Amino acid sequence: MLDNRPTLPPEIARRRTFAIISHPDAGKTTLTEKFLLYGGAIQMAGQVRAKGEARRTRSDFMKMEQDRGISVSASAMSFDFKTFRFNLVDTPGHSDFSEDTYRTLTAVDAAVMVVDGAKGVESQTQKLFEVCRMRDLPILTFCNKMDRESRDTFDIIDEIQQNLAIDVTPASWPIGRGRDFIGTYDLLRDQLELMDRADRNKVSGSIKINGLDDPALAEHVPAELLEVFLEEIEMAKELLPKMDHQALLDGTMTPIWFGSAINSFGVQELMQGIADFGPEPQPQRAEPRFLAPEELKVAGFVFKVQANMDPKHRDRVAFVRLASGHFKRGMKLTHVRSKKQMAISNPVLFLAADRELAEEAWAGDIIGIPNHGQLRIGDTLTEGETLRVTGIPSFAPELLQSVRAGDPLKAKHLEKALMQFAEEGAAKVFKPMIGSGFIVGVVGALQFEVLASRIELEYGLPVRMEPSQFTSARWVSGPQAKVDAFAQANKQHMARDNDDDIVFLTRLQWDIDRVARDYPDVALTATKEMM
Ligand code: GDP
Repeated sequence: MLDNRPTLPPEIARRRTFAIISHPDAGKTTLTEKFLLYGGAIQMAGQVRAKGEARRTRSDFMKMEQDRGISVSASAMSFDFKTFRFNLVDTPGHSDFSEDTYRTLTAVDAAVMVVDGAKGVESQTQKLFEVCRMRDLPILTFCNKMDRESRDTFDIIDEIQQNLAIDVTPASWPIGRGRDFIGTYDLLRDQLELMDRADRNKVSGSIKINGLDDPALAEHVPAELLEVFLEEIEMAKELLPKMDHQALLDGTMTPIWFGSAINSFGVQELMQGIADFGPEPQPQRAEPRFLAPEELKVAGFVFKVQANMDPKHRDRVAFVRLASGHFKRGMKLTHVRSKKQMAISNPVLFLAADRELAEEAWAGDIIGIPNHGQLRIGDTLTEGETLRVTGIPSFAPELLQSVRAGDPLKAKHLEKALMQFAEEGAAKVFKPMIGSGFIVGVVGALQFEVLASRIELEYGLPVRMEPSQFTSARWVSGPQAKVDAFAQANKQHMARDNDDDIVFLTRLQWDIDRVARDYPDVALTATKEMM
């Protein structure tokens, strides 16, 4: 990648930008809450909870979508841990929003994978892990809910190694299980951490131990638990790999911590792990060259757009990951796609529950830029250089419906509303080459409902959504003449997406196979890069 890099300015080196990946219910919300608690960002646990609960049911979920304040302040949160600045980027928990989640992972340097100690690796964890793997993201693992009946420690580690094909090295080791779980032994620091079951918000006190044969261990750990623990540790040392920082950075090894988020247990050790192994802001893939965080000029890219954060305004907020430099409020940046200058006068930083005006920000930070629709997902901002950050995917929707305005005279309004949602990344919009009307595509069925209700709420347009005759969409690429010939011969299947790119719509896999056979120069793809 980039060799001989200069050392990072301390302000950048202390930043850790990461996301949490997990299966619903594994404890992501609870862990986030504890992070914020230790980060001093919230006074009491319980404030993030509203979000976790709101997600549970459909109607609450819709309410959350309308009540944007909640979901938004949680989209990116900054807080301090010791001398570090953590930027936690939230991945939407609902599997229906997977595309959003994937894009979020382009804005972070590491991921914390939370698994439930009783359930191990679940489907959503596996999917998200695959995305992290595609980007070689370093992963730190937190095995949660150790206060409850959990699986055998070797079993859990083995499952992660087998299912995810990654080496696992224990950073801590649990002592006792289920009701007998008393705490962990911190293998990185030779410390004993004991859990306080009486006080959930109490931070456990560490007990320094001089290695595993220190008699002090027996003073704190009941004999029968100690015996099992020492046997297990003996085996772990023989069977499991040692911590290898480079392997962690390469994404081929994950350290695992055991704890209980709800009991505030093991969370600090995990945070220390994020601080120690991080990593710091990493270079960003871009065309025609990599962007390094230490570069003096500011550059960043939009990975998420959110509309109507403030119901009183039609503003949208573009979430920008700063890839390089030291940003100051009021700076003029070039919006590379349109080559226009933008004065960034009201950038916001997301400090836990509050939005705050960002006077300055550094590479690694996430800032929100209010705008009227100029900023789209995938856009790059620079101090003048023509650079484009790459690798932000857009996925072919898996569900299609045709949309019509309840009032036919409002078709133009509908088009405008749909385009805005498309730019936000909330849906794909296809305009068939033949006939009128639109087809919208989403990744999860729930998005149709959210979309219909938002069009009605935000644009005052009742809409009708009906099943489309098509079920799949594929982007078409190849030499222009070949693509034109292909489109001409398959007019009933052709459409343009919201970026005006050409798309093939179909209901049969057979059709897709036929194109591959009959038009060898034309490629149909299920992903395209946003730009
Ligand atoms: P999310 O869906 O991943 O965000 O999970 P939540 O944080 O909402 O947690 C799901 C459920 O597990 C909630 O009822 C939590 O109270 C509970 N929970 C979270 N952490 C722990 C833990 O360490 N131990 C136990 N017993 N329950 C936990």
